[in-house]
Amino acid sequence: MEYTSLATDEDMEHKLRLANDLQEALRLQQLTLHYQPLFETVSGNVRGFEALLRWHHPIYGPISPGEFIPLAEETGLIYSIGDWVIQTACEQNKHIQEKYMPNSVMSVNLSGLQLQDSLFFDRVCRILRKTALSPQSLELELTERDRISLKDRRIDSLKKFAHHGIKIVLDDFGTEYSTLEYITTLPLSTIKIDRSFVSHINNHFEGTVLVEWIISLARKLGFTVVAEGIETYEQLHTLQKWKCDFVQGYLLSKPLHEQELPLFFRKLKWKQENIF
Ligand code: C2E
Ligand code: MG
Ligand code: MG
Ligand code: MG
Repeated sequence: MEYTSLATDEDMEHKLRLANDLQEALRLQQLTLHYQPLFETVSGNVRGFEALLRWHHPIYGPISPGEFIPLAEETGLIYSIGDWVIQTACEQNKHIQEKYMPNSVMSVNLSGLQLQDSLFFDRVCRILRKTALSPQSLELELTERDRISLKDRRIDSLKKFAHHGIKIVLDDFGTEYSTLEYITTLPLSTIKIDRSFVSHINNHFEGTVLVEWIISLARKLGFTVVAEGIETYEQLHTLQKWKCDFVQGYLLSKPLHEQELPLFFRKLKWKQENIF
């Protein structure tokens, strides 16, 4: 009994300390973004990048976003972190467009909480104006974990983004039960099939059939389809056969630090000729 409550106290303290450190990290610009490219499944052309947040803690080392994003949500830090992510990702994308590819699209992960903020839409528009990017250069990813239901006011916010030309992506598709409600209710343009499904391709009969079915269903409904977590040639070739639109995964490229981008673009042609 005592141990349990002590452990809880310690957890609580640890959490508070971490939350404090996270706030400091944002202030001291110790958060960084890595960028993972998305490729056209058949041609191997790059479509753009997904921005993924990284935190290197001075004592604990790298902490996974799976761990600190929930903390940021609990403490309300997610609003300022979220703004910083969009601002930084857009600046980087502007640079990529000017230097390497004029049509590069940047995907940013959102927390559902950010959509509750009534000024969020205006701030995103201001960032696009300031970086001189078109709305089509930005995509926002959300997951079913945010549980946006039929009457949720956040749907209005999503519609504003969609009408403005900013595409909405459903990330981690298939990992929660609300999938069908989501794809019929939200103004989505793209569905991103979760890595847990992709990993079943070719080594698990039901899993393979399921992925093929998801892709054909999504395409029939008019969605763009992305598969994430591609790690093998076999997966890539199967997804080419099934006409999945875009792929992303370690086989093609891990998420890159901005300093790795020049080398990535230098080697791109080689990669396209040898992998796709
Ligand atoms: P996600 O958006 O589904 O991102 C994909 C995750 O899979 C990333 O993990 C990426 O590094 C990893 N990944 C990509 N390709 C492969 C592969 O081939 N194999 C394997 N095993 N993994 C692969 P990461 O960066 O740790 O991010 C985890 C999650 O944290 C993200 O999942 C996203 O939900 C969340 N996240 C990351 N950055 C942000 C952010 O700026 N804001 C918010 N709200 N959430 C974020
Ligand atoms: Mg994502
Ligand atoms: Mg995902
Ligand atoms: Mg995932």
